[in-house]
Amino acid sequence: MADENLDEKPTWPAIWRGIKCKCPRCGKAWLFHHYIEQVDACPVCGEPLAYYKVGLFLPLIVITIMVHIIAFTMLQMELSGNSNPLVYLYVLVPLSGVLSLALLPPAKGGLIGLMWAKGWSDEQDR
Ligand SMILES: [Zn+2]
Repeated sequence: MADENLDEKPTWPAIWRGIKCKCPRCGKAWLFHHYIEQVDACPVCGEPLAYYKVGLFLPLIVITIMVHIIAFTMLQMELSGNSNPLVYLYVLVPLSGVLSLALLPPAKGGLIGLMWAKGWSDEQDR
């Protein structure tokens, strides 16, 4: 398995297919069969995907993206004069919750695409 040519696994297309929640190899089948529960293998191309575990890198990526969006929103609210703490409470708290839930699947898909392209799987540990 390790002798596969890495040229057959271009990194950026695999990441992009993962961000779209599709199989990083073929880009046709869904990568998740529930919210962020990845499939064991692609039903179209048969690529085994169960060994790509993103672990704690997923919340790191999601929090990093979310903090930038929330910070930009806070800055815009401060600059526009809406500095009422209740506005922050009613806008930013729900926004942070919705954003983190919305970012989880594409972030996990992108990470699986990156791990698939680079061959960073847990398969050899089993
Ligand atoms: Zn596939």
